[in-house]
Amino acid sequence: MSNDCIFCKIARGEIPGNKVYEDDELFAFHDIHPVAPVHFMLIPKLHIPSLMETGASHAALLGKMLLLAPRLAKEQGLDNGFRTVINTGKGGGQEVFHLHIHIIGGGHIPPMVRRD
Ligand code: AMP
Ligand code: ZN
Repeated sequence: MSNDCIFCKIARGEIPGNKVYEDDELFAFHDIHPVAPVHFMLIPKLHIPSLMETGASHAALLGKMLLLAPRLAKEQGLDNGFRTVINTGKGGGQEVFHLHIHIIGGGHIPPMVRRD
C-alpha cells in the first residue's frame, strides 16, 4: 500500500472508482478517460509500481490477473475479443505508477500501427 498512490486509494475506496470487480488481491475499475466503449483497468491491491518491479514472488499474482482478464472482459460484453495493454515505465508511456492491465474493447479496435 502506498499513501499517495491514486490507484491504491481507489482500491481502498478512499476516492471514487467505477468498480468492475474486487476480490482479496485484485481490483478492477473503469478508466476515467476511456479510449474505447469498454475500457477498464485490472490492478493488484498490492502496490507494485510497474512490471519492472515484479519478480518470481509475484508469479501467482500476475498469473491470476491474466487469467481473470478474459472473464471480466466477457462480463463487460467483450465476447468478440479485447486488447490488453500494460504500459511499463516512462519509456512505455506509463503515467500512473501502480501496475495495471488496461482491458479495452468494443467498437473498432484497429491493428497495432507498424513503422514499415
Ligand atoms: P497509464 O498511462 O498506463 O499509466 O494509464 C493510466 C490510466 O489511468 C489512464 O488511462 C487514465 O485515464 C487512468 N486514470 C487516471 N486517474 C484515474 C481515476 N481517478 N480513475 C480512473 N482512471 C484513471
Ligand atoms: Zn498503489
